[in-house]
This record gives sequence, structure tokens and C-alpha cells, in this order.
Amino acid sequence: MQILGEEDLIKYPFLEETKQYIAKLGLTLDDFTSNEFEKVIRRCELRLMSSRYPPELYNLDKDTDLLSFMLAVIIIKASQREDVITKFAFNEARRAEFFLKTERNKNILTYILKRLLNINVYEVDYAIGNEYYEYAIHVKDYVKLSSSLKSVHWKIVNKIISNGLVYLKRQELIRLARDKIFQEIFKRIKDAPTPIVPQKLQYLVDIVRNRPIPKKLYEGSTLTEDPPCAKQILDKIKSGKNLSHYERFFITTFLLKKGKSIEEIVNLFSSSPDFNEKIAKYQVEHIAGLRGGRKKYNVPDCKTLFSQGLCYKDDSCDNISHPLNYKLKKSDGSHDRKK
Ligand code: SF4
Repeated sequence: MQILGEEDLIKYPFLEETKQYIAKLGLTLDDFTSNEFEKVIRRCELRLMSSRYPPELYNLDKDTDLLSFMLAVIIIKASQREDVITKFAFNEARRAEFFLKTERNKNILTYILKRLLNINVYEVDYAIGNEYYEYAIHVKDYVKLSSSLKSVHWKIVNKIISNGLVYLKRQELIRLARDKIFQEIFKRIKDAPTPIVPQKLQYLVDIVRNRPIPKKLYEGSTLTEDPPCAKQILDKIKSGKNLSHYERFFITTFLLKKGKSIEEIVNLFSSSPDFNEKIAKYQVEHIAGLRGGRKKYNVPDCKTLFSQGLCYKDDSCDNISHPLNYKLKKSDGSHDRKK
């Protein structure tokens, strides 16, 4: 059944339909050195260099956009930079998530979710109070898809289950799809053989290869504001909600790095319903390297937080790869980022 239009393939270029479409064109890498593919090369450069969010649908023809995606994948593979593979997969997954969230045609949305997740997805119509559930998937599929999401929200005990199916809201299923897209794109690039790129296109590989290595926290710099991922958890604490283990771990490492004392952090956790001062103090001290093996834990990077379902990236994140690089200010008062 062909229900996807040109625009859908442009929005979701990693779908099997795209692969089949491109394969039918019968092109080789050498073909891209011809002037005929100039527009594809320009679009590919954009894909490699920017990750605008929310994403734009460029006013291009289907071939240009799809071929630029395929070429970007090849160039990134040739660069052999794992951090760039991760970043690219991350950005493409976020881009797809945005389009899924704004998809008005439910038939298309359901079709794409089924194709992406590669499982049975059932449309349901179920409401409890203000909560509306539009989809259901088998318990075993849910457990697999949600395994990397550590927040209590995703725990199976907190889900509505009936006849072996887990009921999900539209946004929840899209969120699960986002992780799957990330994993698929990452795996596809990682598993692909390293291509031999024609000389004329080698400069694209150099663009990627010479990209600066993601910055670690600047010595002598301070955060001027908390990033969205940290704000989210701090708001949760303020509203008296329990944190998942990983949320607690991240926010503790983050606050320690910001210079908060053990007492201040324990005090902050004291509003959680499951607070136990002795346990909380032990855990914070452990993370600070004052207990057990005396290992001081680092603040997780954006990739790890994303895989844990704790990234709430918005425009202000400005392509950073670590929450400690968010809106930095150097000790001389100047800003490392323009925002
Ligand atoms: S991109 Fe990084 S800093 Fe921004 S919300 Fe996600 S994890 Fe936090």
C-alpha cells in the first residue's frame, strides 16, 4: 500500500521506502561529482553543518532531499568520527519527532509509526478523565522499546494494560519512536562499510573530520543558566515528585559541579515523597567520591541524557554536546555563546 507522499519521504528519509526509491535510481558515488548534482551537494553540506530546530522543510524536490540525506550518511561514515555519527542520528531523530508531533493525518502517522517501530500498533479510542489514549502495543514490545527510558513515567506498573496491550498517548508512542529512529540511524551508519569517496567530494569528508571535538567544560567558565534537562528535574523536585534513579544521579552530579554542597543537595531532595535523609546523604556522598570506591562521578553528556529520555533540547541548547556547556560565561565576564 503506497500511502506516503513525496513530502513524507522528505520528512522521514530513513524509511525503507526511501532506500528502495534511491536504489531504483541506480546511482554511484561518482555520479555525484557531476554538476547535475550541485543542488544535492549544497543540501548535503547544510545537513552536515546545521541542525536547525524546529526543522524546516526546504522547498526542494524529493530527489534532492533524499539524495542529500543518503550522501550525508556516506560522508559521515567516511569521516569515521563516532561523535558526529551520534550527533547526526540525534538530530535526525529530533527532526522526525517534530514532524510526527505535527502530523495531522492520523492514517499517515499510524502507518509511519508502524513502519518505524516494526511492531503491531493498534489504534484505540480510550479516555480516563482528561487523559486520552490513541494507541496500544503488545506488552513485550513496550518493554523492549521503553528499556532505555528510566523515568518512573515509563515503568510498566504506571501504564494502563488490558488484554496484553499497553495503552499509550500519541506523544508517548512518538517518544518511543524517537529513540528507535536514533538507534536505527546510528546502527545503519556504524554497520556500513567505509566508502571510498571520490576526490571531488573529499572536501565534504574534511568538513566533518575537521569539526571541532565537542568541548569539555571550560576551565574558568561558569554556567549562567541551567539547561532544560536540569530545569525539568529541578521543577519536578519543587513540585514534590519522586525522581528516578538516573534523574537523581544526573542532578546530583550537575549540582556538585556547580559548587553546591552535600548538605544543600540533600536538603533539596528533602521535599521528595520518598525522601530518607540517611540514604540520600549516602548517595550524594557516594556520587561526590566520598564513599565506597571513592570514584567521583562526571556529569553525563547530552547523548547519555538523550538515551535515558532526559533530554529536553530546545533552541537554546545551540548544538552543545554537554549540559555543562550550556550558556557559559568566562571568568572575564565574556560569554562563550551569543545567547
Ligand atoms: S541538549 Fe543537552 S543540555 Fe540541552 S536539554 Fe538535551 S541534554 Fe540538556
